[in-house]
Amino acid sequence: MVVPTNIKDLQNKSRDLRARRVDNLTYVVESTTNPTAHHVVTVRFNREERQIEAQCTCAWAEHRGIACSHVLAALEYMASLKDRTLSFWIEEDAARRQKHRLFHLSGKNTKDGIWITSRSA
Ligand SMILES: [Zn+2]
Repeated sequence: MVVPTNIKDLQNKSRDLRARRVDNLTYVVESTTNPTAHHVVTVRFNREERQIEAQCTCAWAEHRGIACSHVLAALEYMASLKDRTLSFWIEEDAARRQKHRLFHLSGKNTKDGIWITSRSA
């Protein structure tokens, strides 16, 4: 299981991606600079436990990486539909200090992951 080390760079990168919803669980994420590069992101969102499980078809995700730029883009898109904006954190303490709504993001079959805070856009 691999967690990204520079999450703020990744968050900036995700802003160049465009997500659209395919069905309840599935999003297609496209690069705005390279229209042939797209990946499929699957998101399972447990609202009560504030737990998100996400998978992606990109190479990073297939090498057991979590929180690739495509997953972040899909989550940002979901949040934007509710007029929310997200921040991503490696450290739980840093995330908790924000005093915003807090979620945990992991990959499939792992409890390791990153933290997400959500606030009004
Ligand atoms: Zn990906």
